[in-house]
Amino acid sequence: MTTTFSHVTLWEKTLNALREEIDEESFEGWLQPVHCKQYVNGELELRVPSDFFRNWLTSNYLERIEECVEGITGRPVTVIFTVDPAPDAIPGDRDQGDRAAPGARSATGGGRSPIFARFPLNPNYTFENFIVGESNRFANAAGLAVADPQSRAYNPLMIYGGVGLGKTHMMHAIGQRMLTYGPHFNVIYLSSEVFMNSFIEAIRLKRMSEFRDCFRKVDLLLLDDVQFLAGAERSQTEFFHTFNALFDTGKKIVISSDHPPKELTDIEERLRSRFEAGLIVDIQPPDLETRVAILLGKAEEHSLDLPQEVAIFVAERIKTNIRKLEGALKKLAAHCAVTREPIVIDTARRLLGPLLAGEEPIKISVEKIQLAVCKFFDLNLHDLTGSNRARKYTVPRQIAIYLSRQMTDCSFPEIARKFGGRDHTSIMHACRKVARELEGDLNRQNLIKYLTKLIKEEPFSEKLA
Ligand code: ADP
Ligand code: MG
Repeated sequence: MTTTFSHVTLWEKTLNALREEIDEESFEGWLQPVHCKQYVNGELELRVPSDFFRNWLTSNYLERIEECVEGITGRPVTVIFTVDPAPDAIPGDRDQGDRAAPGARSATGGGRSPIFARFPLNPNYTFENFIVGESNRFANAAGLAVADPQSRAYNPLMIYGGVGLGKTHMMHAIGQRMLTYGPHFNVIYLSSEVFMNSFIEAIRLKRMSEFRDCFRKVDLLLLDDVQFLAGAERSQTEFFHTFNALFDTGKKIVISSDHPPKELTDIEERLRSRFEAGLIVDIQPPDLETRVAILLGKAEEHSLDLPQEVAIFVAERIKTNIRKLEGALKKLAAHCAVTREPIVIDTARRLLGPLLAGEEPIKISVEKIQLAVCKFFDLNLHDLTGSNRARKYTVPRQIAIYLSRQMTDCSFPEIARKFGGRDHTSIMHACRKVARELEGDLNRQNLIKYLTKLIKEEPFSEKLA
């Protein structure tokens, strides 16, 4: 199913696919100026005009670019950006040096472009397609309240949570919801990285007052991933003033972060205490039902016929990151588009293998535990499971029995069978003994911890050498 493409054709096809799904201004601002240099051995080299440009593309479009290219070529791709401000990369922009915000270029007409262009809200991230479960119910309710221009509640709103749990989705949703109350509302969404870069550009170009004006005029400021401001003192100071100016005039501020404010130790105290003065909500990893609902919802968005049992199969295995869930779904969708076969669990298992690695619960057998203990104590299996009562054998034996009970689903009689067919009460006795010895014995506790880790991680050969 693989076809060879010249890099020019491949990039053209990719752009055509991306044009379909990205709004025109962003497309012209961010993708049009990218030049494809070469496509060799699965590596696609793209030339971009600045570091800022590269960072923005990486955080906003890289994943989509890769998906598109992979969809077209049918093989994995690595995208490499090279920064090269070639004269043709940004027509007519060289002497002006205004590269802070490519989206702004459409508005230039020869004059100075705005120092800070509007970064478009992502129409795919709305409250309508945000699935609510226990993990995000409170954040969702708070977000809805903040989006209502009438409401004065919760300022600032701080949303924190792990990667891929929906913080960015929520922020775009808040912005778009506010615009449904009136398109005149001035909503700015940006990541703190973009804030920082634009700030640096503004200093460089001596256009600070313009930069400040942009922010002071907003009704709602959505600042994503504030943890990126860590250590950037001047940007933090600038944001502190922006924050105060907005707050004092009753404008709304929503901030997201990967940690709660008190754990953002590289952010100035005065800024953290501003965050803490508002409402802090967290987004937790979703439970199984929510994950299934998200998968089914996304499948519908992609017009993909995803049987519930397959959704459950995938959701049971990908637990911590919704982006990863989506990745799984896209893989299935791509496969179906090609084969036109219905999705069954076996297909999912086969296609998603690499994605599920590390997520699938590791099945641990008594045999695996025995092998690990033998290896650690330098015994052979026969001695471990036999009836020799020398201490050299009984201690490892009891530990292996204890671990078998802790780490597998086996019953006492089952374990007894695997330890030389002894009486199951002796198994119970061994478990109790080890548990008792563990109390207060740090050495023994460490040993158990170590062995547990070894058993979970090491792929033992089935036979003992
Ligand atoms: P974060 O910013 O927290 O890292 P994102 O907002 O980028 O995470 O979410 C990752 C992906 O998961 C996005 O595509 C988003 O649409 C999706 N997602 C996250 N939470 C939900 C949800 N509750 N319902 C539907 N999709 C969600
Ligand atoms: Mg995010």
